[in-house]
Amino acid sequence: MRIFDTHAHYSDEKYDIDREELFRRMYKDSVQRVTLIGASLDESKNEKELAIKYNKFLDMPKFYFTVGDHPDEVPKCSPESVEGVQHLDSLKSLAIKGALSAIAIGEIGLDYHGDFKNEDDYENQKKWFIAEINLARELNIPIVVHSRDACKDTLEIVKNYAKGIGGIIHCFSYEPEIAKEYVKLGYHIGIGGTVTFKNARKTKEVVAEIGIENIVTETDSPWLAPTPYRGERNESSYIRYVIEEIAKIKEKDIEIVSEALYQNALVVYNLKD
Ligand SMILES: [Zn+2]
Repeated sequence: MRIFDTHAHYSDEKYDIDREELFRRMYKDSVQRVTLIGASLDESKNEKELAIKYNKFLDMPKFYFTVGDHPDEVPKCSPESVEGVQHLDSLKSLAIKGALSAIAIGEIGLDYHGDFKNEDDYENQKKWFIAEINLARELNIPIVVHSRDACKDTLEIVKNYAKGIGGIIHCFSYEPEIAKEYVKLGYHIGIGGTVTFKNARKTKEVVAEIGIENIVTETDSPWLAPTPYRGERNESSYIRYVIEEIAKIKEKDIEIVSEALYQNALVVYNLKD
């Protein structure tokens, strides 16, 4: 079995105590590649540094990184303002300069979850989502999309601004019909730990109703650990449980499913085997 974790945040302090040891263990547990996802300018910097540092070790997975702002982390200013333009320039430099280039822009998107947010927040999130999609188009790399409680607006923006760019709709939480819409637009659906939860009816239906070629595996480490580790710190080797669940739903051999999912990740991030 080969595992590709398409979405993890290993710069998180939860890994400070045992990061190297964990990466070596993950590699022994079939984790061959991991994409480190930036959720802010600062985190993007940290994930890039991590990727460069640990790619020197041959007994660890190969690491990639992305740059972007999670909708809860976007600057308060407009992307057209002086600070906004500077911020986008910083993201761009981080993506293309130095020893390693970003393989995607993300995670970007919309998150309307939380009572404290208002229309102004939503409008600001939308502007940044579009601005960072445009950066992906400019750099000719895919996007990693975060969308929570913002189903309609996210789909509309992807349809109008991100057609043909491709990428992953990460931690997919909507109905199968919506997943099919994204597939039509050339997007892959990110499936992680939640598919193993007993009450995850919707996610299981999504897996059942879309083709295996449209799915990629992810952890969102340190969050969303699958059963039997639910609630604990997540790690890429636990994707094994996600693959098992997908194979069960699809009624297919686990080795065939895991290899198909690995290949899908290579396709979505434009990587060679
Ligand atoms: Zn994430």
